[in-house]
Amino acid sequence: MKFDVVLIGSGLAGLTCGIRLAEAGKSCAIVSAGESALYFSSGSMDLLARLPDGRQVTQPLAAIPELMQQAPMHPYSRMGEKRFASLTDRAEQLLRESGLTMTGSALQNHYRITPIGRRRMTWLSPARVPTYALEHPLPWQRVLVIGIEGFLDFQPKMVTSALQQQGTKAQSQEIYLPFLDKLRDNPSEFRSVNIARWLDLPENLPRLAEEINRLSKGYDAIILPACLGLASDKVIEDLQIWIGKPIYVLPTLPPSLLGMRVDQALRARFHQLGGIVMTGDAVRRMEIAQDRITGIYTRNHGDIPLRASQVVLATGSFLNNGLKTVFDRIYEPLLDLDLLETPAREQWTRQNVFAPQPYLKFGVKTDEYLRPLKEGKAIENLYAAGAVLGGFDPLFEGCGAGVSLLSALYVAEQIIAQRRVEKSMLPGQAETGEVKQ
Ligand SMILES: Cc1cc2nc3c(=O)[nH]c(=O)nc-3n(C[C@H](O)[C@H](O)[C@H](O)COP(=O)(O)OP(=O)(O)OC[C@H]3O[C@@H](n4cnc5c(N)ncnc54)[C@H](O)[C@@H]3O)c2cc1C
Repeated sequence: MKFDVVLIGSGLAGLTCGIRLAEAGKSCAIVSAGESALYFSSGSMDLLARLPDGRQVTQPLAAIPELMQQAPMHPYSRMGEKRFASLTDRAEQLLRESGLTMTGSALQNHYRITPIGRRRMTWLSPARVPTYALEHPLPWQRVLVIGIEGFLDFQPKMVTSALQQQGTKAQSQEIYLPFLDKLRDNPSEFRSVNIARWLDLPENLPRLAEEINRLSKGYDAIILPACLGLASDKVIEDLQIWIGKPIYVLPTLPPSLLGMRVDQALRARFHQLGGIVMTGDAVRRMEIAQDRITGIYTRNHGDIPLRASQVVLATGSFLNNGLKTVFDRIYEPLLDLDLLETPAREQWTRQNVFAPQPYLKFGVKTDEYLRPLKEGKAIENLYAAGAVLGGFDPLFEGCGAGVSLLSALYVAEQIIAQRRVEKSMLPGQAETGEVKQ
């Protein structure tokens, strides 16, 4: 099987890169071993909330020159200030075109309320997540946080206590909905996604609305766990009409419905553009000849290689085996690529769990085009995007989704631009647009 581009991994990076390439007319296949970090994610996208020296960043675009000074190997530093700005615009557009309604801007971060009621700075948030502008108080006077009896993946009391500390008169309540008893019998079934399958049914909406109405007199906003709106926000909009007050949702413990919505929307967009996802397959090894990937071997295709002019490594970090570790060694499992930031074993972690953890910066080393290095040399037709990259700390710097989105788009641009260069170098083939093998 032959494609213009084979992408390895269907997380935020693989899907974003695939969409951009498919938009540009490339035939793309994504090999996907399993679920991505999106299933654990808040659904909000961080761009840059802190510099490596700990200084807070409120305006990500304005902070890039300083980041480039402090962390020249950070993926954003490799892109440069201008490219960073254009790629954030492109990322926002791509999310919009994929049907995702997000609030926020790269010019100015905002606060979102976290699953435990604290505030955290971010770039883009799903429309129904409670957010507010920096340097403003919480915009609600009296908030009711409603949990679901027996549902342990969301703790309303923790949320209210944190909201009270931020100056809001927040209270919590739990609702009991008999139609959920079928799930309640088995705690491992009583999860956000399964609950949403019931709450999203139109016949259950009146009962849910009735319960919320009964409890919500005197409150000016309602916060629910993100256990409804599996396919879209329509059900929340309908509920809001019944209640007559703003309704917000907070992410729960995984599976996170808000993250899954991002996954579903991007996948649908990729398919719509003609992309193929080989779900449940895994790349086992790759063949290299003369510094190029010449064959990609997967679990399901055995000894029949996938062939592609360009390959994108978007396998994520430790969570999804994009990076692996044994006691004293970290390695990239497919090609044993060169890694950035790999100090001695005793320096991988810090004892204070709240301190920045060095291992979070480990990842693949690349050239300025984000082509991974192996023994110091770039593999010509291989690019890396997303959490597999080294040189940044997604948690401390608050830049996880931003790095995935922007590096994916940056890589797609390299691949698209390369085709133009090769076309212009081969006048006889300019009409066909074939990429030189
Ligand atoms: C638990 C968790 C929560 C997070 N929450 C947030 C958040 O709320 N906001 C935020 O901004 N950032 C968050 N992040 C940061 C996160 O890293 C990025 O946001 C982003 O989702 C990572 O995307 P990715 O595509 O690079 O990697 P991943 O999402 O890890 O995807 C990698 C994909 O590659 C596949 N894969 C791996 N090896 C192979 C193989 N050999 N063959 C085929 N497929 C393979 C995996 O199955 C997976 O589908 C979170 C990270 C984690 C770990």
